[in-house]
Amino acid sequence: MNATIVCVGTELLFGQIVNTNAAWLSRQLQDRGVNVLYHFTVGDNPGRMAGILRSALKESDLVITTGGLGPTQDDLTKEIIAEVMGDALILNEEALERIEGFFRKLGTGMTENNRKQAYLPENATVFQNDEGTAPGFALEKEGKLIVALPGPPREMTSMFLKSALPLIETKSEGVIFYKLLRFYGIGESALETALASLIDHQTDPTLATYAKEGECSLRVASRRATREEAMEAVEEMQRRIEAIAGAYLFSDADEDLPLVVAKKLTAQGLTIATAESCTGGLFSQKLIENAGISAVFDS
Ligand code: ATP
Repeated sequence: MNATIVCVGTELLFGQIVNTNAAWLSRQLQDRGVNVLYHFTVGDNPGRMAGILRSALKESDLVITTGGLGPTQDDLTKEIIAEVMGDALILNEEALERIEGFFRKLGTGMTENNRKQAYLPENATVFQNDEGTAPGFALEKEGKLIVALPGPPREMTSMFLKSALPLIETKSEGVIFYKLLRFYGIGESALETALASLIDHQTDPTLATYAKEGECSLRVASRRATREEAMEAVEEMQRRIEAIAGAYLFSDADEDLPLVVAKKLTAQGLTIATAESCTGGLFSQKLIENAGISAVFDS
């Protein structure tokens, strides 16, 4: 499945806020084997928004929008999606009741423009908003799926995980299983060179390297009919990777290096003491962040 993420909001274009929604959604999708082809950011402009959505729908099976679902005049996402998908906006009674309930709980009156948020595309699957007022939705047509989520990250992430993801997962074939292998003492390009025989011509599992400060990681992912088959394929690939670069591997469970050190010390009944100079105690700090460390850390 291919996807495009469209983030709506003039304040994003002005640089007033950083587009964390796109990065977060990309990671979520990528982790589930959905290929993200594009990120678009568009202001509150109906013509440009429609143009972006039309072009995104040409190449992607899934288009996710964030933002522009609010009550004000410049919140246009729903209107444009309905236009592009050839659907009409109608009042959704359940959404209206929830919005009224939200304001009752808040103890403030509801302004008339908040009713606007309860108008949703007629054929949409509505996602209620447990963290705010703007409902989201999914709308499907001719094998293409548009998912509209609110802009505020807390509302967006909660709605994506609770409502959108289960729906998206029913549309993608097979099951994805992946492991993040983390390496220390070898750079990304050296790791890629060492693993070239596995990385070149990869089909499934796929291998992707990522550089981080002081370490690098390798994502090994497989999509198979069942989770067991995908797990088996990833583990077989891990054995081949370890045969080449196992000396640098410190975690196959996405654990931080200090946590791995703490666990090893505990398991082997060893203690550690530190003498630091000009680090402001940073080394000790990294160690003591881990639960149970007092058993092995001699301070
Ligand atoms: P509501 O009107 O219910 O708040 P909305 O769907 O209309 O929701 P926007 O008005 O577009 O959302 O954005 C509301 C706020 O959410 C922004 O001011 C910003 O703080 C945050 N936000 C919006 N889009 C993004 C984004 N892509 N990344 C990070 N934060 C965002």
